[in-house]
Amino acid sequence: MMRVNNVKFLCMLALLLLLAGAGCAPQPTTTGSTSTTRNIILFIGDGMGQAQRQAARLSAVGDNGRLAMDDMPATGLLHTAAADNPVTDSAAGATAMACGVKTNVGVIGLDASLIPVATILERAKSQGKLTGLVTTTPITDATPAAFAAHIRDRTLSAEIAVQLLNAEVDVMLGGGEDAFLPTDERGCYEEPGKRTDNRNIIRGAVNRGSTWVCDAAALAAVDPTSARRLLGLFADQGMTRPFSPSLAEMTQKAIDILTRGPNGFFLMVEAGQIDWAAHTNDAEHAIADTIDLDRAVKIARHYAAKNNNTLIIVTADHETGGMTISRTTMGLNGEDGPFPMAGGGKFYVNWSTIQHTPVDVPVTAMGPGAKLLNGVHDNTFVYEVMDLALSE
Ligand SMILES: [Zn+2]
Repeated sequence: MMRVNNVKFLCMLALLLLLAGAGCAPQPTTTGSTSTTRNIILFIGDGMGQAQRQAARLSAVGDNGRLAMDDMPATGLLHTAAADNPVTDSAAGATAMACGVKTNVGVIGLDASLIPVATILERAKSQGKLTGLVTTTPITDATPAAFAAHIRDRTLSAEIAVQLLNAEVDVMLGGGEDAFLPTDERGCYEEPGKRTDNRNIIRGAVNRGSTWVCDAAALAAVDPTSARRLLGLFADQGMTRPFSPSLAEMTQKAIDILTRGPNGFFLMVEAGQIDWAAHTNDAEHAIADTIDLDRAVKIARHYAAKNNNTLIIVTADHETGGMTISRTTMGLNGEDGPFPMAGGGKFYVNWSTIQHTPVDVPVTAMGPGAKLLNGVHDNTFVYEVMDLALSE
């Protein structure tokens, strides 16, 4: 496609939007393509603030390197406050991005008055797109749940599992087998289920056409040309390190299946345990999980290079731990390190809390409409950008 034609097309599009009274036209993509957005891949590093990203960068590629998640044309900051608290949690944080509304801490897929709000995943599904959720935490945990469930209490994982089943999300990969099985049944992992209603949700998913897998080898063996839907549960609760399958492997398989739909897809991928590590001020694992997330971002970028109508967004629901980085020891209690830097040198990590913080989180993006994310926005703006991409 000639760039000139694209420019002509853009001018016409801008004129049409102007005539239609539209306020702002979507930005052209970095590749110059004006094709309709077909796919959205949203990466959420739970608890991944600026310092978590920078520590991962220093560790993986050094002072002069760039992570795949940072080497993107759009960069912004997001305010993360919940409706009822300046310090949010994953439920309200993910709901803001999934539904475009600020809600209260602990609430999933409902606004602050507890009215259900359609999610971007449901919007995509209504357009005939396939949908997927991938995480290293239980698949019923707050972040993935906010994209396909509507419930006032994030801890009700048994009910969330039912809602995920009924939402008919095409690909679900993560931990959390316990919420899918009754107390007298065992799946692939050690603990029996925790459901008290005697329902086997895994069987329910298989009855609706899902292939069920529970280890990396079985996941690798799934043939994306024949698996219509996929449910992978890789732990009783959160996945244990080293994650097997890795976040990158889960992301690759999800894309391989979802790309077979005729109308594109929406996929959310969460590195859920950056937050867990930061809650215990464990810099080593917070850094390792952020690097893991970057490997998954590379998988998505590789796909987007051949499918440039793919919007990729990388951000966080909130920061955890009040992490800071220093290049010399501060001699403080709880200091982590030294950590070696790629290419030489070392750095230290200090923490100011074991809780979430209200600091803004970085957002980077590429693909159609990505540049709208430049600047400083509320976290609900992530929904607006994705919604606009689906409206094109
Ligand atoms: Zn947390």
